[in-house]
Amino acid sequence: MLHPRMRYALWKDVPDDDWNNWKWQMKNRVCTLEALAAAGLRLAPAEVQGIRREEERLRMAVTPHFLSLVDPENPDCPIRRQVVPRIEEHFVCPRDMDDPCGEVKDSPVPGLVHRYPDRVLVLATEACASYCRYCTRKRIVGKRLHTIDRDELARICDYISANRKIRDVLVSGGDPLALCDEKLDMILGALRSIRHVEMLRIGSRVPVFLPQRVTPALLSVLRRHHPVYLSLHFSHPREITPETARACEALADAGIPLGSQTVLLKGINDSAAVIKRLMHDLLRVRVRPYYLYQCDLAVGTDQFRTPISTGINIIEKLRGHTSGYAVPTFVVDAPGGGGKIPIGPGYFIALVEGRAVLRNYEGKIFEYPEPVEPGSIRVKLRKAELPEKAEPLLVR
Ligand SMILES: *Cc1c(COP(=O)(O)O)cnc(C)c1O
Repeated sequence: MLHPRMRYALWKDVPDDDWNNWKWQMKNRVCTLEALAAAGLRLAPAEVQGIRREEERLRMAVTPHFLSLVDPENPDCPIRRQVVPRIEEHFVCPRDMDDPCGEVKDSPVPGLVHRYPDRVLVLATEACASYCRYCTRKRIVGKRLHTIDRDELARICDYISANRKIRDVLVSGGDPLALCDEKLDMILGALRSIRHVEMLRIGSRVPVFLPQRVTPALLSVLRRHHPVYLSLHFSHPREITPETARACEALADAGIPLGSQTVLLKGINDSAAVIKRLMHDLLRVRVRPYYLYQCDLAVGTDQFRTPISTGINIIEKLRGHTSGYAVPTFVVDAPGGGGKIPIGPGYFIALVEGRAVLRNYEGKIFEYPEPVEPGSIRVKLRKAELPEKAEPLLVR
């Protein structure tokens, strides 16, 4: 099969060595209206207007790799809608929030968010390989493109060192894998050298936007700081190209457990069929679905939001109907900073007289009798349910 980039006159003659080089990909990112048009995309008026005003909010940048997956003719292409701004992005609705997950108030030192008792989030950089239009952190991402310096890292490490309960550090941003090997090694090394830090996690979309970045040198940096877990961000099954599959397999072979995070996005992936396909395709490349997110209330993202019921209904169609490994946890990151709240179909119906009433994935009802603590609970059983020669169960 022809490589998708062959559909684009602009890239047809690029030597493979360049195309497969992540630095070439970064240098040749498409960042302007003119460059998008030159690549041959037929742009809708809503896109032209959206891009013209995009600097006010969140810059546009798309790697040639990711843009090559875009349908040049279709403005509703699910790949395209994730990275090409539309005018709707400039519509502010009353529900929008600058800091939808309340990270600012949970930030004791710059670049660190401490919300949960035993783990923290480090915002290592404000840069990404490409910019998602629905970015939850668009208040900072893509603006200054700042990466934490030695002083900031030292203050973050001091804070973690002084908090012995912190055993898990999640490095995100921005995208930490968009940094060069040396900088990433420095950041991971500093965090890992804190004695009570048991594990590191990295949040990244690089295997999707820039799979060429997953080089042997990067793998050896990551391997040096084990245990390292990776939370990857996928939105659509079409993102799992041969290049991305190879990147995931190389990461898995380096001993890095891979999880996925997916944001539910209207018109992009808000159906059970698309999510199920994505989850199955992820498992094939050894990525374990982790979270399915309700879209956060970031400014200008109303166009992407679905009702909560969409996510619940999707989980209902997965749980029991396919491998448990393919079922992510659907969460709402509570507006204002309550953290991730799992929601899903209710399988627990009631507790009736010491029996849990449950339903299964087919809607059939089952009961689980709870253990009886002698002397504390009166258990009433109907005659018909008592086994023959049953001892009286009532103890008081
Ligand atoms: C998501 C998040 C974490 C990690 O949460 P897990 O449920 O452990 O994956 C930690 N800190 C912050 C601030 C987060 O938003």
